[in-house]
Amino acid sequence: MKQEKSGVWQSWNENISYKYKSLYKITSEDELQQIIKKSEKIRFFGTKQSSADIASGTETLVDITTYNKILSYNDSERTITVQSGLILGDLLEAIEAKGWCIPCLPDINTITIGGALATGTHGTSGKLLCEYMTECSLVLADGTVKKINEEDELTDAVRVSLGVLGVMSEITFKCESLYTLHIKEGPEDDSEWLPKIKERLKQHDFLRILWLPHTDKGYVITGDKIDSNTEIIEDLGPKYLKHRRKASKILYKYTHIFPWITAIANKLLYRGFFSATKEHKGSLYQATVTKSRGSTLELAEWTIGLDTFPKVFEELKTEINKWSNKSFIHIPMDIRFVYKDKSWLSYAYGKDTVTMGCVSRNAATADTYEAFKSIENIFLKYGGKPHWGKRFVAKDAELSKIYYKWQDFKLLRKKLDPTNKFLNPYLTKLFNEKTNN
Ligand SMILES: Cc1cc2nc3c(=O)[nH]c(=O)nc-3n(C[C@H](O)[C@H](O)[C@H](O)COP(=O)(O)OP(=O)(O)OC[C@H]3O[C@@H](n4cnc5c(N)ncnc54)[C@H](O)[C@@H]3O)c2cc1C
Repeated sequence: MKQEKSGVWQSWNENISYKYKSLYKITSEDELQQIIKKSEKIRFFGTKQSSADIASGTETLVDITTYNKILSYNDSERTITVQSGLILGDLLEAIEAKGWCIPCLPDINTITIGGALATGTHGTSGKLLCEYMTECSLVLADGTVKKINEEDELTDAVRVSLGVLGVMSEITFKCESLYTLHIKEGPEDDSEWLPKIKERLKQHDFLRILWLPHTDKGYVITGDKIDSNTEIIEDLGPKYLKHRRKASKILYKYTHIFPWITAIANKLLYRGFFSATKEHKGSLYQATVTKSRGSTLELAEWTIGLDTFPKVFEELKTEINKWSNKSFIHIPMDIRFVYKDKSWLSYAYGKDTVTMGCVSRNAATADTYEAFKSIENIFLKYGGKPHWGKRFVAKDAELSKIYYKWQDFKLLRKKLDPTNKFLNPYLTKLFNEKTNN
């Protein structure tokens, strides 16, 4: 095992940094156990792509990206077992080669499996990624390993657990047969796509809406399962569309000084990049997951029950369109759909849910981005839940009202980690623990 003495840890967009005393790069569960056992305070991180301050902030850190092997396949069960530092894209390439898939994927492939599971990472028209996990081993605060399968009473607590119950070590996913999607994309007025959500969720295997604030438009992406041999006349629109993110970056360059420029920029971006229709086919991974982004950004995301979404959407739209409100929002706000589950800290606990992303293309000036505050205020008012890996300010007082199992989770956390070994300063406040870090 490699150890680096003292240095500075920085999140991918450089918005969070901490000094550390020891950083370990591990390659086995045994090494992970040893370090956890001997450390008083410890955090572990994947590719550092969370905007929430959850991955570092302790003197001892573990980089799990070197713990990244595919351990085994079970062909008859269609399962794959991997180490938690494996990059999601590597897992997806490996299962596609077997003719398998995971049927709900986030729009990023560079994250680690451990990071993705811990924060409740999700895609659309399916369940959180962690819901496809059937077994895992968890390294507990005392360094022992607990094996957890679907029958275990801890499963519903562990699936989304922010890395505060233990470190997920070996993970088994249950896969499905690979399928091909026929994807159609195009713009629609808000008055058209909003009332059609439920109907489209029934009609299509994939639904995602990129809302374009300050334009009254959404860009609707649907996908239908087809036979892989079905001929589709591919239309990916003009070649320049691939420069959308670069164009956004330029147009938004001064929006932290003059936020109202955003409204003009969005209209230009709509005309240039979202007014054409597209049609193509491919696997869920190949046809819908972004493989490269070019520059960093800062993210927030809020979730709300499917039935409450139209009301929250209208209120948000009215609020951000007021010229007295400085919350001009960069394109797009990503609207996705997650089906109900039983995981205690899941956004979709007991309820079909809509998720709504909020992006600042200027990561460095994210603190001045008023939109993050407006979206949090409005979603919280209706019992909305924040994405654990993204930016939000709500803490224990608010979270205890919106998570039915919050107190149970806190009690379990305290039982499994009585000395708060896995809490950094941010998580200490989040759970309203009294200890100093
Ligand atoms: C451009 C971009 C696009 C994104 N798209 C989506 C999306 O489509 N859907 C979505 O839901 N989210 C999305 N996210 C959020 C992202 O999936 C999460 O922030 C994820 O946690 C990042 O993974 P990571 O490997 O960088 O984890 P890190 O940020 O390094 O760590 C996240 C948390 O996981 C913990 N952790 C890491 N490994 C383990 C482990 N083995 N066991 C237990 N805990 C562990 C860490 O301690 C930390 O608390 C996106 C983020 C970005 C930057």
